[in-house]
Parts: sequence; C-alpha cells; structure tokens
Amino acid sequence: MKIHEYQAKDIFAKYGIPINAGYICHSVEDAISAYDRMDNDLVVVKAQVLTGGRGKAGGVKLAKDTIEMRNHAATILGMDIKGYIVDRILLAKAEDIEAEYYVSFVIDRNTKSTLLMLSKEGGVDIEEVARQTPEKIHKIAIDPTIGMPDYLARQAGFLLFDDIKQVRQAASIFQKLYKLFLETDASLAEINPLILTPDKKVIAIDAKMTFDDNALYRQEKIKALFEPTEEEKKEQKAKSKGFSYVHLGGEIGCMVNGAGLAMTTMDMIKLYGGNPANFLDIGGSSNPTKVIEAMKLLLSDKDVRVVLINIFGGITRCDDVANGLLQAFDQIETDIPIVIRLTGTNEAEGRALLKGTKFHTAETMGEATRMAVELANY
Ligand code: GDP
Ligand code: MN
Repeated sequence: MKIHEYQAKDIFAKYGIPINAGYICHSVEDAISAYDRMDNDLVVVKAQVLTGGRGKAGGVKLAKDTIEMRNHAATILGMDIKGYIVDRILLAKAEDIEAEYYVSFVIDRNTKSTLLMLSKEGGVDIEEVARQTPEKIHKIAIDPTIGMPDYLARQAGFLLFDDIKQVRQAASIFQKLYKLFLETDASLAEINPLILTPDKKVIAIDAKMTFDDNALYRQEKIKALFEPTEEEKKEQKAKSKGFSYVHLGGEIGCMVNGAGLAMTTMDMIKLYGGNPANFLDIGGSSNPTKVIEAMKLLLSDKDVRVVLINIFGGITRCDDVANGLLQAFDQIETDIPIVIRLTGTNEAEGRALLKGTKFHTAETMGEATRMAVELANY
C-alpha cells in the first residue's frame, strides 16, 4: 500500500526527520489562505498523487508570490499524472538547494534483507541511474540483529558527505528512517531528494513510503490512509464476484482455472517474450455467466491485445467449458483475438466444439502461449 508525500512527511516529522513543512490544499482558495499563513514568500506547489515522477510531469512548481502560486495551484489541481488525477496539492516552504541526494530503505528479496540505498545522484530518476551508472548507487545490507548503530550510520553518511557536520545530520536521518521503516512495517521508505541547503542543513524535501499489505492488520493508523486506485477497486470488485484478480499492466489478458495454473501461464507468457495483463483465477467452473463476467473484466483493461484462456478440465469437463465459452461469447462483442487451450477430461470433445469458430485453439500450453504472444504483435 502506498501513501501520499504529505502523509509520509507527517510520519517523518513524528520521528524527527527534518522536512519542509506545508499545508495540504484541495482548492485554489485553500491554497491562497494557506499561503497567507506561511511566513516565507518562496513556496513549492506539489501535486499529491500515488505515483512518482511528478516533477517531470509538471506537477512540482516553485512560486515566489501569490499570483504565481495561484496560477500553479490552478494548473496542477486537476492535472492527469500517469492516469492519476490531482485532487490535492501540498504547499510547502521552498528550500534552496545546493545538492540533491538519494536515500532509501527497501526490502530486498535477493539479499533477503533490508537495504540502505544511497546515491549522490539524487533528485533525478533513480531507476535511470541504476541502469546507466549502477556504481553510483551504494547498497548496504542491514543485519537485523545489528540494525543501524552510530558507526554504521556515520559510515553511510560519509558516502554522501565529506564534512562531519553534514555526516552527523545524515547519520541521524538514516537512523530515524530505519526506525520508522521497521515500526511501520514499510517495504520502502525513500527520500529523493535529500538536500543540502546553502546554510548546510540536510533536509528531506520529498518522501515516499510503501507498506507491506500483509502487516496492515497491525498498522491501524496506516491502514486508515488507504485510498484504492481504480485498479485496486477493480480487484476488490473482482473479489466480490468470486475471482481472484491482480492487474499487472501487460497486454495478454489471462483467464485460467486454478491459481497454480494461472501462475504458470504468466511464467510461460514471459518465457515467450510477452507480458501478462493480469492474474485471473476463475476457479473450477464452466458457468457461462462467470466466463462473461471474467471476460468483461479482462476487456475493461484498455491495454489488453489478446486473451489467453487456459483451462484444465479435472472435475469440470472440457466440453462443458467449451459450451460455456460459446454461450458467453454469443453475448460479448470483441475484435480481440482469443486463444483457448483446453486439456483434461473430454478435451477432444471440447476442442471439437470450438473447431470452425473464431477462437484460436491449442493443445499444449506452450503452443497456446506462443500463439498469444504472436497475436499480441510485440
Ligand atoms: P517527484 O518528481 O515526484 O519525485 O517530486 P520531488 O518532490 O522529488 O520534486 C522534484 C524536483 O523538484 C526535485 O528534485 C527538486 O529539484 C525540485 N524541488 C522540489 N521541491 C523543491 C524546493 O523546495 N526547492 C527547490 N529549489 N526545488 C525543489
Ligand atoms: Mn522525488
């Protein structure tokens, strides 16, 4: 689960990490009255959306007076940033920047530990730095029995700063960030950028946090901040219909019976060079209404270019499934190619029923997946 920058900054402030404080505003009027309450003229107007790269998208702007601030607030409110509509902005004190750094704690599955990641190349897109110049990102694996003692925090601080005064400020920030990372069951706590001001103060001017969904049951306060995205709402709706659905963002929509088979199907798509649009387990059923609902769910995803239906007939018979599919597709209009692989009980009968229809049929999973990837035209 993600939270907004202003919410993450609230948590940072509680743990004593220096931030540039501000006001959250839902309208231009809100922003004007907040601006009047601030004692410095130079402010930064920041879109609050649950995605990164706001700066690049024009969602972070500096203003030096009411008129500029009002204009920026008006432009940014309502803006579409990667599909997220901005409904609130953070109006914060603008800081002077001498240098920008990257700092994060993240759960790393490769080292099976928490990593402290640091870079002098802050402010910019860190994924890009990782790709182009990975040597510029320092990674320190944290031993959970040792944590972040002073010596380690200072050692980390020296990777970013030369002056001991700044190293001390940074070390204290790392320790606080690690503490809050642990105590909130976060999977990511990121500061990008952590800045050095001309008067040599080290401050977090951005804050990003992601939490482990499986720990939310013991994080009441964080759970209360949950704002489902359109995709998450869709997942919840799918759940209420008895499906287990996860949006993945690729182009090949998958409809599969059984979670294990669904996972394997996604692996196979990847293996043949495609990208699954979703995980969808429709359970053990050939019920046409269920197929229609599942199909509607898949087709509501605008990125889907091909649908791959992979059914294993165990107790469910393949001919029943084929009949269910035919009935369902009588009611669904779509130009999207549909690949069907049926195997198991009565598979020959099932395939015979689909012969001569608009469906692309396959016997093996490999054949079906290759077909789907080909039809997706990568
Ligand atoms: P992001 O693009 O979504 O990560 O948003 P950030 O909060 O990181 O802001 C993007 C960039 O805007 C930063 O890297 C800074 O260069 C700039 N910026 C943000 N806040 C301030 C500020 O208070 N003062 C100045 N001078 N620049 C800022
Ligand atoms: Mn940032």
